[in-house]
Amino acid sequence: MELLRRSGVSEEVVMRSTRGAFKVASFRGIPIRLHYSLLLALPLLTLVFGSVVRQAARTASVPVELPGVVPFLWGLVVAVGLFASVLLHEMAHVFYALRTGGRVRSITLMIVGGVSEVTELPRRHRDEVLMALVGPLTSVVLGVLLIGLLAVLPESRIFTPRFALSYLSGLNIFLGLFNLLPAFPMDGGRILRGLLAGRMGLVRATRVASGVGKGFAGLFFLVGLLTLNPFLFVIAFVVLTGAHAEAQQVRARAVLEKLRVEQVMTPRFHGVELDTSVAEALADLHRARRPALPATEQDQPVGWVEVAELLRVPEPERAHRTVRELCRKAVVVSPEDDVWSAARRMVEAQPPLLLVLERGRLVGTVDGNDINAALALHQASEEGRPGGWPRWRQERPA
Ligand SMILES: [Zn+2]
Repeated sequence: MELLRRSGVSEEVVMRSTRGAFKVASFRGIPIRLHYSLLLALPLLTLVFGSVVRQAARTASVPVELPGVVPFLWGLVVAVGLFASVLLHEMAHVFYALRTGGRVRSITLMIVGGVSEVTELPRRHRDEVLMALVGPLTSVVLGVLLIGLLAVLPESRIFTPRFALSYLSGLNIFLGLFNLLPAFPMDGGRILRGLLAGRMGLVRATRVASGVGKGFAGLFFLVGLLTLNPFLFVIAFVVLTGAHAEAQQVRARAVLEKLRVEQVMTPRFHGVELDTSVAEALADLHRARRPALPATEQDQPVGWVEVAELLRVPEPERAHRTVRELCRKAVVVSPEDDVWSAARRMVEAQPPLLLVLERGRLVGTVDGNDINAALALHQASEEGRPGGWPRWRQERPA
């Protein structure tokens, strides 16, 4: 859906994570998913960390020669430990988000780290700042705790466990500090945005923060190029696209929150009747030039039908099969609802269109095109005076 592409990193993340990730566990009802990119990251990191372990063993004060695959087994231990650490970092964000009224749909671990898909941010900017801060803080504290663990562990002559522990501790501290860089949408960038938002409003603060984020993306790219570090390329890409998408989402939200459904909907007072044949319904959809239309029973709105589903009925059967068997349950909004919450319901339930009902009667429909047209119109008109838009009531037949 066009709307998804335009308006949101969270939506993009949904699509990305539902496509390429599988659920392994859940935390307070929130699915924890592993992204397939980990299948690439895990062997890669095992190799990298394994060579680090081997090198460190050779150059230790009492040099150790580790046989064959042993250093790489320890590399694997460190890599798995790193992903567990990233998960703890994400869980800290999620825990705080839930405590302050945020909503979280999933946690996904992927090649560049974790992504918590927060569908509703805490309302207060202070809470957003703290929510962003608890992740890096968790990583740093975890790093310090691992050092502490190293100190209290009995001194042993075995080199590798101690090295793995201290290396993992270092990685956690690095992870925490790296995430504090103000490269929006990384944690530090969110902290910056939250701090600015109190003074300049969310839209401007996001614009500034995402500008800084794009600057950092360029920097990561350059450093990645100079040090031949592929992870920095991936991070540069994620930061760049994330900063752009999120700035757009915030702008879209600011516009859509001010608009009411009746201002963007396509007025429509009749749907496809449930007893209509599939063939006739297809003709109706073609006439309306819409991929989906409301379905009604004696003019009472009951759901929707879409062209893709109708086309699945074999041609010879289309004359005698009816819309009734293909009708899907409606997602209903009211003309007075704001368009942002309507768009969110669309993203959550994934219907191709929303039915707009007033006192039980169908008065219109809203689909992705309607919302995108409203956004485009607003962006085109510099003043953007949503209040001055024509209201459908004036066009409504008596
Ligand atoms: Zn984080």
